[in-house]
Amino acid sequence: MRNNDLNPEESFEDLSMELSLRPKWLKEFIGQDQLKQNLAVFLKAAQQRDEPLDHVLLYGPPGLGKTTLANIIANEMGATVHVTSGPAIDRPGDLVGILTNLDPGAVLFIDEIHRLSRPVEEILYPAMEDSKVDIMIGKGPAARSIRLDVPRFTVVGATTRQGLLTGPLRDRFGIISHFQFYNHSDLFEIISRSANILGYKIEKTGADEIARRSRGTPRIANRLLRRVRDFAQVEDLPAIDRAITEKACRALEIDHLGLDRVDLALLRIMIERYRGGPVGLDTLAASTGEDSTTIEDVYEPYLLQIGMLQRTPRGRIATDLAYKQLGLKPPKRAETPELEFED
Ligand code: ADP
Repeated sequence: MRNNDLNPEESFEDLSMELSLRPKWLKEFIGQDQLKQNLAVFLKAAQQRDEPLDHVLLYGPPGLGKTTLANIIANEMGATVHVTSGPAIDRPGDLVGILTNLDPGAVLFIDEIHRLSRPVEEILYPAMEDSKVDIMIGKGPAARSIRLDVPRFTVVGATTRQGLLTGPLRDRFGIISHFQFYNHSDLFEIISRSANILGYKIEKTGADEIARRSRGTPRIANRLLRRVRDFAQVEDLPAIDRAITEKACRALEIDHLGLDRVDLALLRIMIERYRGGPVGLDTLAASTGEDSTTIEDVYEPYLLQIGMLQRTPRGRIATDLAYKQLGLKPPKRAETPELEFED
């Protein structure tokens, strides 16, 4: 379940499916209304001036539509898109190669931009500001730096946490957009649209139930829809309804809030081994066998959002709601924990 539904890594089937479900234009992009309205203004203004869009930073948990929006920006601007990621650009020379080969006005999408190395970032700054790159020719005392022109272009950077970006890099983005988890009606619409593209009928009750279990995340909604469709198809059902969704979710160990085995294991460990916390992230990682970055980026944001978890300076705390979710009685608490706010 974990590898299918929450892991940011995609299987081949997932990837090709996601491509067909991905909206191509802003008007097809469901939800994130404020972000969308602002972006529509910036796109129109840039088009009127016949300039590339200012650099855009998109941040939010995985699966909320950052890659989709980067592609939409390129489409709307009539620009080509070059897709890469922070860890994929090993050396400064790799980035110089990418930048000098961009089409004028291109969108350069850099996923996980917080993972760019410092020397690579240094190449990016003058390129973003002045459309120039500085390269070193030769070695030792004879080495000299030369400046090359690159076409004007738009960086669309995506990151799961804005706080991980270096200050100088963040300052070079003119547009910074924060993705929120999607609400129920947006997810309902996304699921109905996707079922339509997949060519499988879905009842309102089915879309409703899948939306409830999608953790506010379109990627999870789409994956769950595909798995439920498998169950419906094998049982020869003409449409996806609530009953088959519930049956599929039981088989996939997804509860009525969309929590899976790892979420529940996290809460259970906090409660049973550490009396509800505070527990440090590394301790949680070691006790669940999960990577601490995965816990922080993938699992925690939704548990925080639905109020099962709190972050305090001393570690994570399981809330009363988490106790109730596991069918346990919440403890009497002496004090309310101090909350830590990010960003
Ligand atoms: P991220 O880059 O944030 O991890 P993606 O852009 O890859 O997320 O989105 C995952 C999938 O979710 C996409 O393939 C797309 O099908 C779907 N999706 C994301 N946002 C939306 C949206 N606003 N409307 C419809 N589908 C969406």
